[in-house]
Amino acid sequence: LVKPAEIFGAGRLNSRGFDLTDTRMLATIEAARDVEIPDAGPLVAGAVSGRSREVMNPAHRTVIARVVEADQACVEGAIAAAAPWQASPQERAEVLRRVADLYEANFGLFFAVLSREAGKTLNDCVGELREAVDFLRFYADEGARREDAARGIFTAISPWNFPLAIFTGQIAAALAAGNGVLAKPAEQTCLTAAIAVRLLHEAGVPVTALQLLPGDGKVGAMLTASDKVQGVAFTGSTETARIIRRAMSQSMDPGAPLIAETGGLNAMIVDSTALPEQAVRDIVASSFQSAGQRCSALRCLYLQEDIAPHMIEMIKGAMDELHVGDPWLLSTDVGPVIDEEARAGIADYIAEARREGRLLHELAAPEAGTFIAPTLLEVPGIEAMEREVFGPVLHVATFKGRDLHRVIGAINATGYGLTFGLHTRIDTRVQEVTEAIHAGNLYVNRNQIGAIVGSQPFGGEGLSGTGPKAGGPNYLDRFRAAPAPMTGE
Ligand code: NAP
Repeated sequence: LVKPAEIFGAGRLNSRGFDLTDTRMLATIEAARDVEIPDAGPLVAGAVSGRSREVMNPAHRTVIARVVEADQACVEGAIAAAAPWQASPQERAEVLRRVADLYEANFGLFFAVLSREAGKTLNDCVGELREAVDFLRFYADEGARREDAARGIFTAISPWNFPLAIFTGQIAAALAAGNGVLAKPAEQTCLTAAIAVRLLHEAGVPVTALQLLPGDGKVGAMLTASDKVQGVAFTGSTETARIIRRAMSQSMDPGAPLIAETGGLNAMIVDSTALPEQAVRDIVASSFQSAGQRCSALRCLYLQEDIAPHMIEMIKGAMDELHVGDPWLLSTDVGPVIDEEARAGIADYIAEARREGRLLHELAAPEAGTFIAPTLLEVPGIEAMEREVFGPVLHVATFKGRDLHRVIGAINATGYGLTFGLHTRIDTRVQEVTEAIHAGNLYVNRNQIGAIVGSQPFGGEGLSGTGPKAGGPNYLDRFRAAPAPMTGE
């Protein structure tokens, strides 16, 4: 077996460092059950000012801690104080490796905050911590291997669904290349971000090189409309990426990069040669793990007509086995969605489908908390889906074997291109379909969520992202200044 680190020459990654079957790990998680989550606020080189508010636990609707959201004066002060990281690539790499060690030393606190603030199950916490630590070590090594060429100041804007891994990945890449970073986390997950930034500072990242600005989209808007910023790393919805692109075009040089990783309408095709038991397991994991709140999650499943009735019965049976509830329990498969606004929006969407007679199956959701139970809906095809529904809702369509090319055409016509799954036992079909589909990450005969830093970089095309892929060998290049133009004729 080739280890990820050997492929791109990375150092010690940590993909297997956290294991829920490890009793020491379980004891540390148990000890973190009642740990107090510290209040959060701007971590900036200038003066702190803003409005304080409560942060709620989505599973229990209880207050976890408070956060101060940066106001305009605080954001302006941070922008004025921002500076690139003046240290050699090797020194920066050493600091980022120290951060990785500090993340590992604090995993109990991270489990607590990820579970309480973002509603993550313990299994999801493991994946998130592994990925965050891997990003730190991978970008540290990538940064140390190259000459210094920082662009200057980067704004990093992240979503709530991977509040540690994506937040850390953007920052680590920008810092590894020597940039200064103005980081705006999603408003729902500022506590997680603040713990991370405190550890980055503790490890030796100067405060002028990394400032945290908690707040809502207005803070993000200010940070993408400043001519002091030379580039933006953004992960979130396609709509917000469009707004940021417009803001940048008015304030920054035309060459300032927008590295955007955005939404998807991800499909899977299961033909009549697929192994049903394996396909069902992968369909359920792809659709409902993390309560469907993954950009990579399966949204539209195409089943070949002759196997569809049987497969749908099997999927319903597998759904019935899922435990929906408190994310802190090891037995829980599906936790809450992120907040009441998300819950209400998805519930309305399901109610509309129910009125139209398209509801195939749903589970019961716990009453307290912002839960949406896994739900199966019928659709004529992906063209009938107008938007990404960011929750545990799977749409299923059927197709005749002779219509496979029409289905591929419909999937491509959405304009998105993030993940795609295929279950088949026909080798030539694997090649034919994967060549025809426009998607950044393709998964054959397995689930279609997840990626591995250093060996399976992640990112979409079309409406799903600009590239380069996160966790891959080209990602850092976009954070570095382009070589000076040739002079003369
Ligand atoms: P979102 O609403 O687009 O928000 C993402 C971030 O942008 C948040 O920090 C948000 O701040 C900020 N923001 C909002 N308006 C802004 C503006 N005008 N200027 C600058 N920043 C602004 O997305 P989300 O709901 O958090 O995340 C879910 C989306 O992310 C889904 O579409 C999902 O597919 C996508 N996603 C993609 C990937 C990938 O790798 N391709 C990974 C994860 C998620 P506030 O939170 O304060 O509004």
